[in-house]
Amino acid sequence: MRKTRAGLFLFIFMTLTLGAAERRAKNVILFIGDAAGVATINAASIYQHGRPQALYLHQMPHVALMDTSTASQWVSDSAAGMTAIVTGRKTHNGIISQGPDAERGKKDGTPLKTILEYAEERGLATGVITNSPVADATPAACYAHVNDRRKWGEIFAQVWQPRFGDGIDLIIGPGRERVMKETRAAGHDPETALKGRLFFSLDAVPAEAARPVVLLDDPDFDLVAAVERAIRILATNRAGFFLMVESDCHTNRIARGLRRVILMDGAVRRAAELTKPTETLILVTADHSYDFRIHRGRRDEPLLPEEASLDDKADSVRLTNVRRDDDHTAEEVIVAAQGPGAERVRGFLANTDLFRIMLAAWGWKENR
Ligand SMILES: [Zn+2]
Repeated sequence: MRKTRAGLFLFIFMTLTLGAAERRAKNVILFIGDAAGVATINAASIYQHGRPQALYLHQMPHVALMDTSTASQWVSDSAAGMTAIVTGRKTHNGIISQGPDAERGKKDGTPLKTILEYAEERGLATGVITNSPVADATPAACYAHVNDRRKWGEIFAQVWQPRFGDGIDLIIGPGRERVMKETRAAGHDPETALKGRLFFSLDAVPAEAARPVVLLDDPDFDLVAAVERAIRILATNRAGFFLMVESDCHTNRIARGLRRVILMDGAVRRAAELTKPTETLILVTADHSYDFRIHRGRRDEPLLPEEASLDDKADSVRLTNVRRDDDHTAEEVIVAAQGPGAERVRGFLANTDLFRIMLAAWGWKENR
């Protein structure tokens, strides 16, 4: 009797623990704070809340440090950094989701299948939201393959020329004028190709729109509202969705960079509220770090007392409490995670590991 009972408890225990270990993600939301290094995140918290570790991402249960080096250099740009995260392969700076056999601007490399393309292939809904131009390197690496990040026309045309599924379903971000101009100059007709899908403001998107492409003029649109809208649209797909949200946190303009960390953090919080924690893997990280530091300061004083007169244009800036050089830097960035599969985010990771963490969360195998 006792033995049977112990057996029953063991059975229940095994079922619960194995069941938990095998829980798979339905959705993955990947937040990229572009250039949001550890020091930038720390400064954003102090700037906004007057204390460190006060952001939503600081409450996330799983954390790792992630190397961001490229196939050939220690310091990454957004193209190589994001390619590694979304394809699991390192490439060279300037290259968008092609292998290191590519030569920037000269020769195409092997196209690398992105996590967004894996999701498309399996019938999930997919989207990107960014406050960088929609054809810029970070969003581009999700949906395009080109040998030079500057080829915006060639990049944007891949929205309607997908390699898998029916292509990316939702795009929200700025760069309207230049993206349209360069896409036409590359021999494409975006209005015809995106007939019924193309909008120039969030308000113009009708409630029933299933696959909107929203090109904005102003990078300072309401990122939180855009994330809300995107999740509502993408979540109508019963198979699940992949969404990448980028906030450009370069602190070349110091106060703006810090505010954009706060903006992203608010969007992470909202995404967590709008999705089930048992269904959605949320990852927050950066494609590379940036040379920004707090070098001084008191708890009872503002971090940026000189905010009104910040010398944002200079290559090097040294203020009362912070200093920065206008360069990307090589050291690790944070990955914070919650939801199914988040337990794999621990210790020291390579940028390429994040791709496999997303695949594993869905329970998918790599097939190139
Ligand atoms: Zn970047």
